[in-house]
Amino acid sequence: MKITFLGTSHGVPAADRYCTSIMVEAGDNVYLLDAGAPVINLLLQMGIDLKRLKAVFISHAHMDHVAGLPDLACLMSWYFTDTSADFLLSDGEYLDMLKKYIVAADGTVVDENRVRMTAIEATDVYDDGCIKVEFIPTKHMPADKPSFAFLVTEKASGKKLFFSGDLSNRLKKEDFPEILSKERTDAFICELAHISLDDLAPHLETCLAQTVYFNHVFPVEKYEDIAALKAEKKYEFEIVAPDDGAVYEV
Ligand SMILES: [Zn+2]
Ligand SMILES: [Zn+2]
Repeated sequence: MKITFLGTSHGVPAADRYCTSIMVEAGDNVYLLDAGAPVINLLLQMGIDLKRLKAVFISHAHMDHVAGLPDLACLMSWYFTDTSADFLLSDGEYLDMLKKYIVAADGTVVDENRVRMTAIEATDVYDDGCIKVEFIPTKHMPADKPSFAFLVTEKASGKKLFFSGDLSNRLKKEDFPEILSKERTDAFICELAHISLDDLAPHLETCLAQTVYFNHVFPVEKYEDIAALKAEKKYEFEIVAPDDGAVYEV
C-alpha cells in the first residue's frame, strides 16, 4: 500500500502545507483519509483517474479535515459522472448539512447512487475486498459529537495503517488508542497539534508500529522536537515528519 500526504498542516494551512488529507493506494484503488486539503484539485494535478477513488473516510467534522469535501462530492455528482465512491463521515449532523450546503450553494443534488454518504458507527467495518477499515472512537470533540481514528488493513498484504485523527487535548480524556500497543502496525500516522511528544512518551514506549509519521504538527517548533527524538534513537520504530506531497510505500 502506498500513502501520499496531500496535506500535513494542523487547523491552519501554511504557505507550504494544506490541512490534513492522506491518499492511500491499495491495488488499483484510491482512498482518502480526511479531506482538509483541496483534494479534487490535488488528485487531478497528480493525474489520478477519479474512477479509482473508492472511499473517503472523515475522522471528524472540523474544517481542517473536511474543507475539500463539498467540492469533491459536488463535482462527482454533476460533472465526473463516471465516478462512484463511499463517503464515510464521522457525523450524521454534518452529513445532512453537507448535502444541504451542496444544494444551496450549487443547485446540485448529491447523486446518492454514486456518492454514497453514510455516518460512521463505531461497530461498522468497511470492507470492499481490497481494504478493511475499522473505526476507533476518540474523544477529540465535545461529548455529543463523534470523532474517530482509523485502522486500515490492506487485505492482500496484511499491511496495517493506523491514522489517529485528532485526539483529546493533551490526551486528558485518555483516548490514545490502546490497539497501538497490542497489534503490530506498519504505519502509524499521529497528530501532533493537541498533544506533545511528552504527552505521547508513555504510549510510544509500548507502541508496536514500524514507522511513526508525525502529521498535523502545531506549533511548527515541534518539528525540532521530532528531529531531536529521531536523533536520540530511543525507539525501535522509524520516525518521519512528512511534508505535503511526500509518498511512502508501507
Ligand atoms: Zn485538526
Ligand atoms: Zn479537530
